[in-house]
Amino acid sequence: MSNTFSALVIRSTDDGQSATIEQLTDADLPEGEVLVDVDYSSLNYKDGMALTGKGRIIRSFPMVPGIDLTGTVVSSDSDRFAPGDAVILTGWSVGERYWGGYTQRQRVRADWLVKRPDEMSAVQAMGIGTAGLTAMLCVMGLEDGGVTPDDGPVVVTGAAGGVGSVATAVLAHLGYAVTAVTGRPEQHDYLSALGASAFLSRDEMTSTPKPLETETWVGAVDTVGSTMLAKVIAQTKYSGVVTACGLAGGVDLPSTVMPFILRGVRLQGIDSVQAPSSLREQAWARLATDLPMPLLEDLTQVVPMSEVLDHGAEIMAGQTRGRVVVDPNG
Ligand code: NDP
Repeated sequence: MSNTFSALVIRSTDDGQSATIEQLTDADLPEGEVLVDVDYSSLNYKDGMALTGKGRIIRSFPMVPGIDLTGTVVSSDSDRFAPGDAVILTGWSVGERYWGGYTQRQRVRADWLVKRPDEMSAVQAMGIGTAGLTAMLCVMGLEDGGVTPDDGPVVVTGAAGGVGSVATAVLAHLGYAVTAVTGRPEQHDYLSALGASAFLSRDEMTSTPKPLETETWVGAVDTVGSTMLAKVIAQTKYSGVVTACGLAGGVDLPSTVMPFILRGVRLQGIDSVQAPSSLREQAWARLATDLPMPLLEDLTQVVPMSEVLDHGAEIMAGQTRGRVVVDPNG
């Protein structure tokens, strides 16, 4: 008889969905080349949507949510992975279309996995997770656009959230002057500790932008979208780069073409879900060197899987600070 393990399972019901911790066996798991004992998962905005049923993020029921996981390979039909390997999975529609990380064990496709950098612990890897990977992809987008710390200040929106916190810490560590936009002034000390040197309020950054405003930023990491993104674009300096990865404030973009045609501003979309493996490996290697691990610890809290539903509601309310690591074994 095979051993059972705990997994959070979301089932479709007549009036929406239900989420409960169930006991599963390996026979319940989907097909895939690699069986993984999960050490940790994490909580991202998208997980909040899945857990609360907002935005119909789950495409197939029953679903084990959790868009991230890290763990140890138990068995593998792929040459690329062997039992005992420490691996990371983020994105690839896991936790939306395919079963994800809120479980003690999962079976996944080898193509979805990257090796965990040697110098990174399991908690650190999930302290980063999809949010941190996305933050690093934004930083790399700025660098690809030729933005350097000597060019001038950069702005990070939704700064106290997961993507924003990691972006702030990495950019400050690389020597950029970071202005943090937050709706939570009580998080200024936290953001200063991550390296932010100036602050703007959410209110002032969501007032309707003029087509062109005072040139202020050489680069931006925007996790909010909508009016905030339009404002950032209108304030970006000649030839500056705005990386757009999020929609915490809305999916629209009430902008004009003026910053693009008069200032040569560049808008770079960032996607972590389908990002190719080679780019992910580069980003994880960069995170291992450019995200100070003591800061990562300061911005991370670890919660047991039994509490993840409450934290999912919190992230949807914009109340989560930094990153939440989910312990399926806790
Ligand atoms: P968090 O909830 O941790 O952070 C979002 C932050 O945005 C909040 O903490 C808050 O920051 C701010 N915010 C929330 N609501 C609003 C609002 N109505 N108006 C303005 N600001 C608001 O989420 P994550 O960091 O995990 O994700 C951030 C965004 O990035 C999400 O939209 C997510 O979907 C997206 N994302 C995209 C990825 C990609 O591949 N493109 C991957 C990962 C995330 P504060 O309190 O400081 O103002």
